[in-house]
Amino acid sequence: MAVKKRKKSSTKRFGARYGRRLKEKVAEIEAGHRGRHKCPYCSKKNVKRLAAGIWFCKSCRVKFAGRAYSIGKKKAVKEENDKIIKQEDTSQNNKEDKK
Ligand SMILES: [Zn+2]
Repeated sequence: MAVKKRKKSSTKRFGARYGRRLKEKVAEIEAGHRGRHKCPYCSKKNVKRLAAGIWFCKSCRVKFAGRAYSIGKKKAVKEENDKIIKQEDTSQNNKEDKK
């Protein structure tokens, strides 16, 4: 007889308590925030959660605020980066113009 392998869930620690649906929700959240995430600054997959809402990238050593259980705010960071890049481009162009 084939034996079905079950996924290891972080909610095994609750035993038979609290109900299936709640435990499924908790497992989904905990699977999301543990492990490594993509850095919004250097795009490497090296971001870990230090505490609720605090994220740290080991590659570029940047510590930033995000959502409690996910990095979130990807758009805001990307827009900010684009702004900075545009500003740098314009400042470089101005310098070149002056020369
Ligand atoms: Zn980084």
